[in-house]
Amino acid sequence: MKAIVKWKKGDGFVELREVTRPVIDSEEVLIEVKAAGICGTDIHILHDEFEYSPPVIMGHEFSGDIVKVGDEVKGWKVGERVVSEPHTGACGVCRFCRTGNYQICPEKRPIGSGQDGAFAEFIKVPSWLLHRIPGEVSFEEAALAEPTAICVHCILEKTGIETGDFVAILGPGPIGLLAAQVVKNAGASCVFISGTSQDINPRLKIAGELGVDHILNVDEEDPVSKVRKLTNTTGADVVIEASGSPLAINQAFQMVRRGGRISALGMTEKEKVEIPWNMGIMKGIQIALPFSSSYTSWEKALGLIVSKKINVNSLITQRFPLKDWSKAFSLVTKGQAIKILLIP
Ligand SMILES: [Zn+2]
Ligand SMILES: [Zn+2]
Repeated sequence: MKAIVKWKKGDGFVELREVTRPVIDSEEVLIEVKAAGICGTDIHILHDEFEYSPPVIMGHEFSGDIVKVGDEVKGWKVGERVVSEPHTGACGVCRFCRTGNYQICPEKRPIGSGQDGAFAEFIKVPSWLLHRIPGEVSFEEAALAEPTAICVHCILEKTGIETGDFVAILGPGPIGLLAAQVVKNAGASCVFISGTSQDINPRLKIAGELGVDHILNVDEEDPVSKVRKLTNTTGADVVIEASGSPLAINQAFQMVRRGGRISALGMTEKEKVEIPWNMGIMKGIQIALPFSSSYTSWEKALGLIVSKKINVNSLITQRFPLKDWSKAFSLVTKGQAIKILLIP
């Protein structure tokens, strides 16, 4: 089968290859991939800025059909439409797994980086990671369940949104635009989003169409003073950092109100980022740094998608076959896309 493989450590070293179809063990299912989203993490892997074990097939946001079921798999059959959590390798017996936090299990080898992922015609996953795609949700929409689950986990499960909150979102990529919809649904009264000149089309344009209340270009206006102005100098109740930019991370500390919350969703390219630690303490803020997604966040994400409370369709800007991966990756890098799907 065809697959996009990161075959060696270092910047680059990604190519479309002919590889053997995965062979499932007794607790796994084989899935024919119908749609797979390109994530910022994939770009980080391309440039050697994220943990991975080459050679590995990339891609962790996907949907598909079960085409084969292992002998010991219970509750799943061939033909079912599914999405899968990426937490392969989680041991099931450590403290983190046993407290329901298998996404941070030290044994975890996630699909798309630690083991073969979804930029391929077929993928195998253990059945305990599967979720059913509700009938009315298309494969393309379902491919966005993973980033939606990440937003639900970080924002709703670990940060908390209260009715009437003023929420500032830094970074209008797919995560920022999903976050905007998640917080609106959770009762935020006012949502602010910022991006750069490069983000004006399509990202900030779509933000407007999705009903974001205030949109700001950081190359033209200072986001901190704008948020202070919009909140009568109080600051934002919640700041969602979805850009990974060290400058934005610092601005999050400046624009959050006293006693407010910062929700961290963006990974940075840097190994270390300097932050105003004392300012955070003096303001009495809470910072949520949860990683990845939980079982419950996937079910909630699919619920938001099927009920149309979140519009994932408007975030799908392009579709490409696997062979055009390089073009697709560069559009994501340049911000000329929101979510690009690879259709194997
Ligand atoms: Zn992702
Ligand atoms: Zn574990």
